[in-house]
Amino acid sequence: MFQRVLVANRGEIALRVIRACRDLGIETAVVYSEADRGAPYLALADRAICIGPPPSADSYLNIPRIIAAAEIAGADAIHPGFGFLSENSRFAHIVRESGFEFIGPSEQSMEAVGNKDKAKAIAKKAKVPTVPGSDGLLGSVEEAIRFARQVGFPVLIKAAAGGGGRGMRVARDEGELAKGFEDAKREAEAAFKDGSVFLEKYLDQPRHVEVQLLGDKHGNVVHLFERDCSLQRRHQKLVEESPSPHLPDKVRREMCDAAVRLAKAAEYYNAGTCEFLLDKDNNFYFIEVNARIQVEHPVTELVTGIDLIRQQIRVAAGEKLGFSQRDIVHRGSAIECRINAEDPAKDFRPSAGLITKWQVPGGPGVRVDTHVVPGYRVPSNYDSMVAKLLVFQPTRAEAIATMRRALREFVVEGIQTTIPLHQQIFNTQAFVEGKVDTTFIERTFLHPKGK
Ligand code: ADP
Repeated sequence: MFQRVLVANRGEIALRVIRACRDLGIETAVVYSEADRGAPYLALADRAICIGPPPSADSYLNIPRIIAAAEIAGADAIHPGFGFLSENSRFAHIVRESGFEFIGPSEQSMEAVGNKDKAKAIAKKAKVPTVPGSDGLLGSVEEAIRFARQVGFPVLIKAAAGGGGRGMRVARDEGELAKGFEDAKREAEAAFKDGSVFLEKYLDQPRHVEVQLLGDKHGNVVHLFERDCSLQRRHQKLVEESPSPHLPDKVRREMCDAAVRLAKAAEYYNAGTCEFLLDKDNNFYFIEVNARIQVEHPVTELVTGIDLIRQQIRVAAGEKLGFSQRDIVHRGSAIECRINAEDPAKDFRPSAGLITKWQVPGGPGVRVDTHVVPGYRVPSNYDSMVAKLLVFQPTRAEAIATMRRALREFVVEGIQTTIPLHQQIFNTQAFVEGKVDTTFIERTFLHPKGK
């Protein structure tokens, strides 16, 4: 097992990894930028190392500085968390070449599934259904129009290297497609230094359901059931839950098996997620693999009792999975709300600044993952998530009741957060009945018809 892990991330996920290491008896060193200097979670690691000024490019995305920090710390492995360098196969390669273990998949698997169009090709080979589309990159607007005529409008232009909803454009006709094609390319080029795009049929009000995977370096891969992440704004998740409401057992089984097949085809190990869209008839279509731990992983931890971060570390150290598929049992209902420092009333504008009051809920069935304490200043440089509020109860109805209670208890002053929007969501009949899809938030709260 590792002696010391370098945590190459910040905020909530950095703290989550520090805690898992502590539980395993492993020392930690955590990196930080000048914007995070003095953040209370840093004191929970054995050591904190400053790696540069606030801009991510000079700190959390700066590979030489992170490798230098690992050397200074005398670490034997690096955990990348999520975001930043977590899905960068070149980073994984450099980490391993520098003599450290990368706590994640092999760089070959990351390459294979890292690009959405490549991942779709692997899915097809593994007989996993994919969204109808261009089956490869598009060279020109003319080509895009030809494919759109084949699959029918509306279509979605997607960046192959995309993430976080960037580089994505819906087009309802040829005019929108011509404009969206150029816009998506430009956005992807700026965000990912890769402007390649492809095209997919835009599914009508689908649900987003994903399967958690875990594999070791000995060829064992298991799934840990699904999470429903249909509650999104601008294609970004806000609420996640497991099990997925109204998902027939047969579909769940087929979807989980398909995810495992895909992982095996990519010789995947460590934690990963296979994302699917589900249409109104419960047909599922693969969209992408996230080759890392995800924000919403605690939902799965609650319903399976398996600590995913500890598992990531153990399999990275070469251990075999200590359980088989049959040992993994899904129990109860877990729901997560992302508490972001942003103003839902003002188009989710980031709301950085000083948190003057911070009172976190607790009691039976409540878990809060956060790095924030009263008096914390949310820096404006990074992602706006300040906490993950989770509930776990025997049934979905009880989980919803506990979430309503927990949202009431959660007091935040000084900044705007997504808490008021979550309160509205949990009091909406359609959500309570589990009748939601990826357009629900926009249709119900942001652009309701007739307003
Ligand atoms: P990103 O990597 O940028 O998050 P994804 O491919 O994971 O992009 O898609 C994010 C979200 O966008 C999905 O959860 C879904 O809401 C929406 N989406 C993606 N592909 C389609 C599609 N073909 N039809 C309808 N909605 C889609």
